[in-house]
Amino acid sequence: MIRLLGRKAWIPLLFVFLLLGLWTQCPGVSGAEGLVKNVILLVGDGMGLNQITAARVSLENGAYSRLFLDTMAYTGLSINFSHDNLVTDSAAAATALATGYRTDNGRLATLPDGTPVISLMRKAKEEGLSIGIVTTAKVVDATPAAFLVNADLRSVEKQIAEDMLNAEPDVLLGGGGDAFGINPFTREPKSRSVMTQALEDGYTYVYDREGLLDLKVSSDLKLIGLFMGGGMSFEVTRFPTEPTITEMTSRALEIVAQNPQGFFLLVEGARIDTAGHSNSVEEMMADLIAFDNAVGLALEYAKEHPGTLVVVTADHETGGFGVTSGTPEGERVNYGWLSTGHTAAMVPIYAFGTGAEQFTGTLDITEIPVRIGKLMGIQDFPAVIDTH
Ligand SMILES: [Zn+2]
Repeated sequence: MIRLLGRKAWIPLLFVFLLLGLWTQCPGVSGAEGLVKNVILLVGDGMGLNQITAARVSLENGAYSRLFLDTMAYTGLSINFSHDNLVTDSAAAATALATGYRTDNGRLATLPDGTPVISLMRKAKEEGLSIGIVTTAKVVDATPAAFLVNADLRSVEKQIAEDMLNAEPDVLLGGGGDAFGINPFTREPKSRSVMTQALEDGYTYVYDREGLLDLKVSSDLKLIGLFMGGGMSFEVTRFPTEPTITEMTSRALEIVAQNPQGFFLLVEGARIDTAGHSNSVEEMMADLIAFDNAVGLALEYAKEHPGTLVVVTADHETGGFGVTSGTPEGERVNYGWLSTGHTAAMVPIYAFGTGAEQFTGTLDITEIPVRIGKLMGIQDFPAVIDTH
């Protein structure tokens, strides 16, 4: 073999061996022994291409402006229909993104026949990584819930809250105090509530922006921050007591990044969808720009920490939204909506960092977590949960 290659053919081969050697010694290669150590997955709920276009045009330089999203070099498209519907809901899409399985609308990490399936986030926890969720919805809402629990119905919120605790997230930030038994007036947990259980389990609980920002992050900190009883406010009407999605993401990153094994963090910009349901352009654009700021923070982290993969996508488009006229400078812009529900439109995928080149082309929504899992070196995923 060596003789056949001849003397000069050795040079490129040597290079390959040298690179392989360097790769396996790279400090970023650890955790579950994959190429990717840290994952930040950001989901813009209801964020279609026209929503992104409108948000960009609303910035100072109109269509010449650039979002953080626009700086991400690798882009693709996601085909996101659910098992029983051309138009997915957030539960089925979140199940696909979390577990790599298509299911019926309304289901959380369970197959159409009820079989529970494991999420990549829970696999990451099993492998010793830290896990966290940031959302502007209730933390028990469909998108975050599919990453931590199995349920036949997305509406069983108190049960979901209990099951979320059992999945032992290191950090959980968003709305949803009601499901955890938080008294809406005192902001204290009611007796025998899910939150009293969380406190017994060693969690720290914060309920406002000041509490979150002043918090001292220690290595053993496990944090639940619930800033509203239901979902959090739209960015345009956010109370001073509610942190921004970027502030939540920043604190969550500080907590999960302490783990030398790595982390898996989900960040959901949930209110883009809510604004779409009510065909409210101003609220939608402001929440999309707030979400984009969190993307910017994630990109900054990934630049400073090799071995980090940032993937941004949507679960579905909401409203059949379109920009119908206007100037490139962003004047006299008009919009149209097809519906107050979701549509079957493909949604974008953006990636940056280690392994980002894997997220190009037109992918099935289920392929996104499968590729992330492979890059992380996680074995036996996707997989059903053996309940026997
Ligand atoms: Zn929706």
